Amino acid sequence: MKTIKKLLVANRGEIALRVMRTAKEMGIKTVAVYSEADRNALHVRYADEAILLGPPPSNQSYLLGDKIIEESLRLGVDAIHPGYGFLSENAEFSQKVRDAGLMFLGPKPYAIDTMGDKLKAKQAVKNYDVPLVPGTDEAITDVPAAQKLAEEIGYPVLIKAAAGGGGKGMRIVRGSDEFVEQMNLAVSEATSAFGNGSVFIEKYVDSPRHIEIQVLADQHGNVVHLFERECSVQRRHQKVVEEAPSSILTPETRDAMGLAAVNVAKACDYEGAGTVEFIYDASGSFYFLEMNTRLQVEHPVTELITGVDLVREQIRIAEGRELSFAQEDLTIHGHAVEVRVYAEDPSENFMPDIGNLKLYQRPQGPGIRVDDGLEQGMDVPIYYDPMIAKLIVHAGNREMAMDRMIRAIDEYRIGGVKTTLPFCRFTMEHEAFRSGDFDTHFVQKHYEPSMLNRIDDEGAEVAALMGAWILSTQSAKAVESTSSSAGSNAWRRNRTL
Ligand code: ADP
Ligand code: ADP
Ligand code: MG
Repeated sequence: MKTIKKLLVANRGEIALRVMRTAKEMGIKTVAVYSEADRNALHVRYADEAILLGPPPSNQSYLLGDKIIEESLRLGVDAIHPGYGFLSENAEFSQKVRDAGLMFLGPKPYAIDTMGDKLKAKQAVKNYDVPLVPGTDEAITDVPAAQKLAEEIGYPVLIKAAAGGGGKGMRIVRGSDEFVEQMNLAVSEATSAFGNGSVFIEKYVDSPRHIEIQVLADQHGNVVHLFERECSVQRRHQKVVEEAPSSILTPETRDAMGLAAVNVAKACDYEGAGTVEFIYDASGSFYFLEMNTRLQVEHPVTELITGVDLVREQIRIAEGRELSFAQEDLTIHGHAVEVRVYAEDPSENFMPDIGNLKLYQRPQGPGIRVDDGLEQGMDVPIYYDPMIAKLIVHAGNREMAMDRMIRAIDEYRIGGVKTTLPFCRFTMEHEAFRSGDFDTHFVQKHYEPSMLNRIDDEGAEVAALMGAWILSTQSAKAVESTSSSAGSNAWRRNRTL
């Protein structure tokens, strides 16, 4: 068994910091990598050593796999953690890391390759008793035949890119008359976005909920699941609010989904931490969507309800240790909710709104975890994902967790860029979310940007107050006057400047 003494994190921002924090607790030295845009970033300052990779664009910095491996060897690094995004789902990189004699904190190239292609994934799990969304499980080459199948399945159908990800590469087809046109668009989009024009069709599930299962697999054949995360509140097919457990699953469905997820992991000889995503329909049936072969953005909600540090487990598994717990040792404690704090304007169709974080103060107190990588005065760079932070709360039950999240959002002060926080607060207060009666169409069905626009009218007043507040050396008195002047209307308090 080889122990990891020095770990390089091939990522940036919140996830790089999050990984390093666990490494530090385990007595492992850390190496950061960074681009010229991230010279002063927190992950760079936190690490024991840091390597400049190059100019800001990812393809000249965070995607330079060979350079990262070279530097790792030079610095005596034992293992590389890829985080999420960037090189995390690059089978070739993981192979090169292994070939260089280093440990890769992720699954073997075969699993990444198989699960990175939604069609290969469907074929791999076919014989493992995993329910699939009705549709094709091979790339479409014969358009008229596919059109015929779409009619059999029934419209609407979804055309998906096999290599798609991050909510991109999907087109809804509502009727036969638009099938050919949408098909052509889908193929050309997939070719330009992913360098792979292979597409397939899936039934477009009505009132779908996105429910995913966290799995852990060691090198000795032990596979467990750590229950579900519900990620149905999405914009552009991308998650904004996540929670664990889901408000809708019965213990029986939870067990069945957990078992299916473990089977998916077995189907690709999985190793490490991974997530099996399912779509759950109005009748209570669930279908396999895809597997993400890495640590997920929303992994903290699982950590909070299970008490398991997923990064620690990734490290232990890579070192060749057996899982220290079995399925029956795992239980759900309370409820956790995460909101993604994006530098986006929820009143302008969630358009990115990057710039300088003129004001940045984290919420504090019982049950709150903030995973972020920025400080007041720093810029949110235009080159990368505009996520500023993840705000996660844990409480005894769902109701208390939602109330705690509202309190945390109200304490969060962000000025200089607009953020998704007002939208997240709207969600926490909305009857559909509170009652648990929602699906992936929550935003389209229930969200009205005009609600935020009304607040915009009051923006100038709040801006003046916040400005005064910053200048007033942040005395307790000033804080008090800011919150009381802003009244009980939390939209106003959370308005970004
Ligand atoms: P999660 O399922 O963990 O929420 P996301 O789907 O939001 O993950 O993606 C996490 C990160 O990975 C994001 O930064 C996203 O942009 C990136 N990502 C995911 N899939 C792809 C892909 N196929 N190509 C490029 N980036 C991707
Ligand atoms: P990605 O790789 O981009 O994450 P997924 O297959 O995980 O792609 O799908 C992303 C989101 O798109 C899901 O969370 C869900 O909201 C929606 N979606 C995907 N497949 C379907 C489907 N067959 N029916 C309805 N919605 C779907
Ligand atoms: Mg997905």
